[in-house]
Order: sequence, then structure tokens, then C-alpha cells
Amino acid sequence: MKLILATAGTLVFAATACAQDRELTFEPTELRGGIVMLTTGAGGNIGVLTGEDGILLIDDLLPGTGPQVEAAIADFTGGGVPRFILNTHYHGDHTGSNDHFHAQGATIVAHHNIRTRLAASDEQDAYGFLPILTFGEDIQFHMNGETVRAVHVPSAHTDGDALVYFETADVLHMGDTLFSGLFPFIDLMGGGSVDGYLDAMETGLRIAGPETQIIPGHGPVSTREDIQASIAMLRAAQAIITPMVEDGMSLEDVQAANPLADFHDSWNWGFICTPRMVATLYLDAAGDTATNPLATRCN
Ligand SMILES: [Zn+2]
Repeated sequence: MKLILATAGTLVFAATACAQDRELTFEPTELRGGIVMLTTGAGGNIGVLTGEDGILLIDDLLPGTGPQVEAAIADFTGGGVPRFILNTHYHGDHTGSNDHFHAQGATIVAHHNIRTRLAASDEQDAYGFLPILTFGEDIQFHMNGETVRAVHVPSAHTDGDALVYFETADVLHMGDTLFSGLFPFIDLMGGGSVDGYLDAMETGLRIAGPETQIIPGHGPVSTREDIQASIAMLRAAQAIITPMVEDGMSLEDVQAANPLADFHDSWNWGFICTPRMVATLYLDAAGDTATNPLATRCN
């Protein structure tokens, strides 16, 4: 279920059927200010701000899961349709319930490039309803006594990512610019880049203080130390593979050398396995955005 990618449309449809067919288990974690991180075993983590001004949802899971998301948030919001949904990027496991909630009156908000990518997608229906309000560098929501600031970070996980900071509660939703404790997916074909991804994590570090509670796109509630660990890993891995590309080695030869062996035990996971992280770093350093690193087999 983690294979939900805009770059792999057939997988989205497979996941759609799967998500509709099975009952997801939602785990709500209450953070400061009553903000809830809603996690399932499938798709990106959701952030929920609720109060008398209405519900703000940060991301809305997989296609076909709208009714389940609606029921899950009703447990702690008292019910009702979100007033706003902010998409942190265009991938189907973060925008999948846009259509469900839009049909009931929710306003979908996202970076300009998210609307562009969703509109251009062959599987638009699977990826979610198009955002109605779009922004460039940033946007702020003033509701429920909270100031929620979404800041765009260019060419990171995709070309439309935003970090979302709840200023009063000191809670930061990083979307997929943080895969906490996991090799990150960097969607080179969707406008992402390794340097931009590192810059986005640095932006997260600048926003986050010692007490900030961080919602990653995937993984558990995190701290700024988790961002630091991800930055250190990615910089070190990039520093190993870039010289191999500059030496003219083929991707096959680099894979055979297993250059990220030391990182494997701590960072490898089912979706971004070590060979896919190697392929991502190789293709990025080679300036190749036409080859899909996810085509790399995991074993
Ligand atoms: Zn993503």
C-alpha cells in the first residue's frame, strides 16, 4: 500500500480498489493544541486542526478512503465536513479523498504546481479533485485560535511541496519532505531533487524548535533530531554516490558495489529499499529525470 505514486498510475488504481475493499485502521495521536496526527498503515499521515471555526485537514489519504477518513476524524472532531483541506503535495496517498470532501463543500488548497500536476494526470479521478485555491510561496490560515503557515519548498520531494507549521501549538507537518527513520522517496520525475530535498529538511530544521512536535509524511511523531538524522544520512549517501557518477560508473556497477551497505539496516524499508535509494541518488547526480528509480527491483 505504500506504492502509491503519481509516477506509477497502475499502482494507484490497484491501491484504490484495495483501499475501498478493506477497512483501514486509524490511529489518532493527540499533539499539542488539540492537533491530531492520524495514521494508518497505508498512505500519508494526516494532520487535523479542529474547533469552532471548522476543521482543517492536512492531506487526505488514498483514493476511495474518503468515507473512512470522515468517520475516523468524527471520533474526535464531533463530526462534520472539513472546511479546508491543504494538500502537502500531489501524490495520490495525500490527495485521494479530495473529491469525497469537495463534493460535501470542503475547499481544497494547494501549491500552484499541485493543481497543474493533478490536472495533467491521466488518472486525475484517482488522484483527487483539483485544488480551488492555489498559492506560490506561502499561505496562512487563521482559525481556531491558531495561525497555520504553509511554506513552499521548491524541487524537494516533488515540485509542489509545502511544510505546514501550527505556530501556537508548535506542531510542524512536513509532508513527504520527511520520511522519518526511512530512506526518503524523492520523486525525480515529479520535479523533486536530492539537493532540494536536503534544503527542505533544512527549512524544517529552521522552523522547528527543541519542543516542536513533527508530523512526517510517513513514520511516527518526530523531533528535530529526527530531521537532523535524515539530513546526515542523505548528505553522506549523496557524498558516496556522486563521485561514482562523476567517475563514469554505470548504475549497474554502482549497484554491484553496494555503496549504501552501512545505511541498510537503519534506513531500508519495503518501498524505498536500498537499491532504490542508490538509483535515486545516481540518477539525480547524473541529471537523469527520465528514468524511474522505482523501476529498480528491491532484491
Ligand atoms: Zn509523496
